[in-house]
Amino acid sequence: MLGEYELRCVKCGRTYRADPWTIVCPHCGGLLEPVFRRKPLGVSWALFRTRKFGVWRYKELLPRVRPISMGEGGTPLIKIGERLWVKYEGSNPTGSFKDRGMTVAVSLAKEANVKSVICASTGNTSASVAAYASRAGMRSFVVLPRKKVARGKLAQAVLHGATIVEIDGPFDAALDVVMKVSGRESGLYPLNSINPWRLEGQKTLAFEIVDEIGVPDWVVLPVGNAGNISAIWKGFKEMRELGLIDKMPRLAGIQAAGASPIARALKEGLSEPIFTDNPETVATAIRIGRPVNWPKAFKALSESRGVVEIVTDGEILEAQRKLGKMGVGVEPASAASYAGYLKLLGREISPDDRVVLVATGHALKDPDAFPFPEPVRASSVDEAVEKIRGLAL
Ligand SMILES: *Cc1c(COP(=O)(O)O)cnc(C)c1O
Ligand SMILES: [Zn+2]
Repeated sequence: MLGEYELRCVKCGRTYRADPWTIVCPHCGGLLEPVFRRKPLGVSWALFRTRKFGVWRYKELLPRVRPISMGEGGTPLIKIGERLWVKYEGSNPTGSFKDRGMTVAVSLAKEANVKSVICASTGNTSASVAAYASRAGMRSFVVLPRKKVARGKLAQAVLHGATIVEIDGPFDAALDVVMKVSGRESGLYPLNSINPWRLEGQKTLAFEIVDEIGVPDWVVLPVGNAGNISAIWKGFKEMRELGLIDKMPRLAGIQAAGASPIARALKEGLSEPIFTDNPETVATAIRIGRPVNWPKAFKALSESRGVVEIVTDGEILEAQRKLGKMGVGVEPASAASYAGYLKLLGREISPDDRVVLVATGHALKDPDAFPFPEPVRASSVDEAVEKIRGLAL
């Protein structure tokens, strides 16, 4: 298993035999990145396009495992402007891009004979872990920040049979729990984005964008634990190395004002995040104060000549409402992409640029995020008919 890969530490540069259980560098604790030992041969768009659109279309560029799959990826690219698209990740099986990573990491875990998996989550990871673990016949444990997980996501974790542990503290504390309790000894396999195999799956988001519209000028996405921005950049770099593309996009990473350790630092020209222990935002999916993947994300942003932007909760909810009026339903964190785009437009982003906004999760995930206006009430059929006629005039 995994013989085509080795794992390289992004901090000290040491390399290791690829093994599903090697999650961080045994030498320095740094993040690991899977790299191909030999360039995959014979890959081309023509070959990929003989297969169904989705994560496993690009199987030569993924671990060679028997997929535990429910049709993840292959999500719509919705055109909402002359040169503007939304990559609608809400169409994944559990309603967020997390499924791209989970199909790969859970397939690997299954082949490694893992019986139980664990994750910390702001919500969507737990929904995805619970579903894929159940599908694979494994137990799942999810550690959540108490009262800070959107209702739809919690419902999914319950429905798919996860054991739920709530902790008083932010996501970052939940992740500490996972890092302490997971490992070969406990048999609990960690499925957070610190797991490099999850990011292998998530890099397919970049492949799919190019597969449909070529290389855009910008990819704009929300940044929480900073795994997805790292994964997407890895995807673009691999396509360039394999001769599948000959230009690169720039990345725009958007964070919420109350949870912006990366964006604030980069705006101030610092080389490390400004961590916070009390992150706060309506966009609970990116309510993270100590993003673990920051070294990869800083690299991605610098290599792509990327930019960061900070958006307020008000701007996020306004962007969510505007997308809603276009028929595109996203959860608050995903609306941060659009809110950030609107702020960057006319500055870093030119109206002539081709831009893809990553809409990371579905609107139904968090129905409590926006206000419900008073409905028109009627106590009889006739009254309803009369009122609707009046309103439609
Ligand atoms: C997980 C998630 C994010 C953040 O992704 P990171 O990889 O943690 O940066 C953003 N939006 C949604 C909806 C998510 O579920
Ligand atoms: Zn190292």
